[in-house]
Amino acid sequence: MELWYTEEHTPNVRFSIKVDKMLFTEQTEFQQIDVFESEEFGRFLTLDGLMMLTEKDEFIYHEMMVHVPMASNPKIRKVLVIGGGDGGTVRELTRYDDIECIDLVEIDERVVTVCREYLPQVAGKFGDPRVHMYFEDGLRYIRTRENEYDLIIVDSTDPFGPGEGLFTKEFYGNCYKALKEDGILVNQHESPYYEKDAEAMKRAHTRIVEFFPVCEVYQAHIPTYPSGHWLFGFASKKIDPVKDLDAAAWNALGIATRYYNTRLHTGAFALPNYVLDILEMK
Ligand code: SAM
Repeated sequence: MELWYTEEHTPNVRFSIKVDKMLFTEQTEFQQIDVFESEEFGRFLTLDGLMMLTEKDEFIYHEMMVHVPMASNPKIRKVLVIGGGDGGTVRELTRYDDIECIDLVEIDERVVTVCREYLPQVAGKFGDPRVHMYFEDGLRYIRTRENEYDLIIVDSTDPFGPGEGLFTKEFYGNCYKALKEDGILVNQHESPYYEKDAEAMKRAHTRIVEFFPVCEVYQAHIPTYPSGHWLFGFASKKIDPVKDLDAAAWNALGIATRYYNTRLHTGAFALPNYVLDILEMK
């Protein structure tokens, strides 16, 4: 008998991966965690039946979440990651010797434990001494922070269930307050392609624009996410991700990447017209 993982991307579109084995399943206080093994994508993690990452394409998402802001401001020293319990974002951040502190705020400790066991290549850097983990709701954590972080990365689930609060005005306003003067906020911004995802993306963008003077959006191709076309938000108090990119300085760091490079950095901010229309950026 064949076993397939299937995710509904719209009521009319389904995405399936042939599964070799189910490795882990658990309903936690917050969500359903599943880990599968597949020939095409290696191991993959789903939460509440939605794809979070696969071993084969996670590098794209995590490199783009981290290296775009890091190359835009080489002075980043203190970073907050909200969500990100799989460890991919933390792994990429630990590649920068100049980063002094990485705070990770993850609502569900079980995600971290399960990823450490089943996805060690993704979750292998939680032991770095610069990483401090807090198991609580990011919406609550951020309320009391002020002028503390150079970079906040919101590596959350979609805007429903536990992740819902991380797409609210209250949250973005508190991120603004928690950032230093040249701080940057990066968030996973959903997809522009299918209607429901595009609405979520537009809603998030409209809310972020209310607080941040610089508000840009960039893109990457992530094969296992709905439509494969994924966006990220880049908001800051004054850093412009294209004008302030110091390509020579980043390249001198010698960080080997498989997706990100400084030419792609600039190109990723060149959005298709239909996306500019949705975001009212034309
Ligand atoms: N790359 C992923 C994606 O969008 O498909 C996100 C991956 S990461 C596993 C998302 C994490 O955000 C989950 O582990 C989840 O528990 C966490 N999370 C969701 N809501 C949260 C909240 N309010 N505060 C902190 N962490 C949260």
